Amino acid sequence: MPHQNNQVGKQPTSTGVVIIGGGIAGVSAALFLAEAGIATVLCEKGRIAGEQSSRNWGWIRTQGRALEELPLMIESARLWERIAAEVDEDIGFRKGGSTYLASNEAELTKHANWLEQAKGYGVNTQLLDAQQTSKLLDQDNGNFTGALHTSSDAYAEPALAVQAMARLATHKGATLLEGTAVRTLVREAGRVCGIVTEHGPIRADGVILAGGIWSRSLLENEGVSFPQLAIRSSALRTTTAPLIATSTFGAPDAAIRRRLDGGYTIGRTGAASFDIIPASLRHFGAFLPIVKERWNILKLSLGPSFFGPLGYHRWNADQISPFEGVRTMDPKPDPKLLDAVMKSARELYPQLSQSRPAQTWAGMIDVMPDELCSVGTLPELPGLVMATGMSGHGFGLGPGVGMLAAQMVSAKTQLVPSDSISPMRFRQPKMGK
Ligand SMILES: Cc1cc2nc3c(=O)[nH]c(=O)nc-3n(C[C@H](O)[C@H](O)[C@H](O)COP(=O)(O)OP(=O)(O)OC[C@H]3O[C@@H](n4cnc5c(N)ncnc54)[C@H](O)[C@@H]3O)c2cc1C
Repeated sequence: MPHQNNQVGKQPTSTGVVIIGGGIAGVSAALFLAEAGIATVLCEKGRIAGEQSSRNWGWIRTQGRALEELPLMIESARLWERIAAEVDEDIGFRKGGSTYLASNEAELTKHANWLEQAKGYGVNTQLLDAQQTSKLLDQDNGNFTGALHTSSDAYAEPALAVQAMARLATHKGATLLEGTAVRTLVREAGRVCGIVTEHGPIRADGVILAGGIWSRSLLENEGVSFPQLAIRSSALRTTTAPLIATSTFGAPDAAIRRRLDGGYTIGRTGAASFDIIPASLRHFGAFLPIVKERWNILKLSLGPSFFGPLGYHRWNADQISPFEGVRTMDPKPDPKLLDAVMKSARELYPQLSQSRPAQTWAGMIDVMPDELCSVGTLPELPGLVMATGMSGHGFGLGPGVGMLAAQMVSAKTQLVPSDSISPMRFRQPKMGK
């Protein structure tokens, strides 16, 4: 049965849980809370999945994951399968596999090292030699030394998936409000007990912050420091092209995913622009290792963004917030980078030699200093659960993050242990006792 569209409903004055942000993290949390019978209101300043969650490449992979996130990702992959079976349309969810191609022995060794460590988690990953890799790619000239391959990994169409999940959440009883920016938290006796949106207050027993790149701004306005920054990443889709294989393929210069429309979504891992803002200076030390490691593929710039919406701002509940100023963050793609990425894709995957870019876009990705998500609570804000900081791989992880946050806010048994992804990990341990 087709579910109803997301409602731009009337804002209630109280509920069980309020969720700030309608990306995959927030929508997943809404879905699981509604399934648990908990009254839930999700507030989205723009439209559902208008930012990162509809702009990503669509990879849902356990392969290559940081070990700290692997248990959550394994659960998330299970949740994806269940969601894909339950939503009202084909969201392009396919267990087609994922493959990291290695052009030399050093890259292959890096993949082999990951596999060695990840084996204990029960991943279904193999190391392929040059011949097996050529066969998988349907290439006879053997461009690659080998590959890391996980046949059970999946992908989906981001532009369809989260919207469909939102309809499912609405169908199960959650209230999803678009055009509803949350300006501030409400605290009583030190505890978060609701929020104030541009349309007025909502009291709640618990609040989940799933605001993507905006989570830091909201916390800073509440007087809480959170080391989260944003980078701009560009991508493109091609015209229809021949099918290479069902798997996604990642090589350093071009990563590709077959789309439901017969084209490919293409991008370059790690290549991104980093606009310096006041928070970059404040958290500079924490991010220095990433900047050093990616120096050759990160474009740093100091410009008008310094004073832009992600810059330093303070507001009260009765004042217009930066969230209302930018309903949907829609950054410009980098044409030079995308030309180079398309050229690399044609060279690496000869089947794409005749295909052309049909559309380009960009998204702002929220990044934490260790590139792991942040799910959990902060001592200054009891009653609030964070579900953010997914550092460029939260489409796959989103359902797991949403489930974990839903369990935390409703004090249920947790899906996986969460210490290594707690937002508290960035706090300096106190010296002495
Ligand atoms: C080009 C690109 C490629 C990527 N590729 C992949 C991939 O292949 N696989 C993968 O796993 N991940 C990928 N990612 C990352 C992935 O898209 C994100 O990690 C994930 O979508 C983050 O989801 P989210 O719900 O945390 O944030 P978002 O999707 O950004 O959603 C946050 C929402 O909160 C809303 N919001 C914020 N503040 C407020 C407020 N105060 N009031 C109301 N609403 C608010 C925003 O408007 C936004 O809609 C990619 C990202 C990009 C940009």
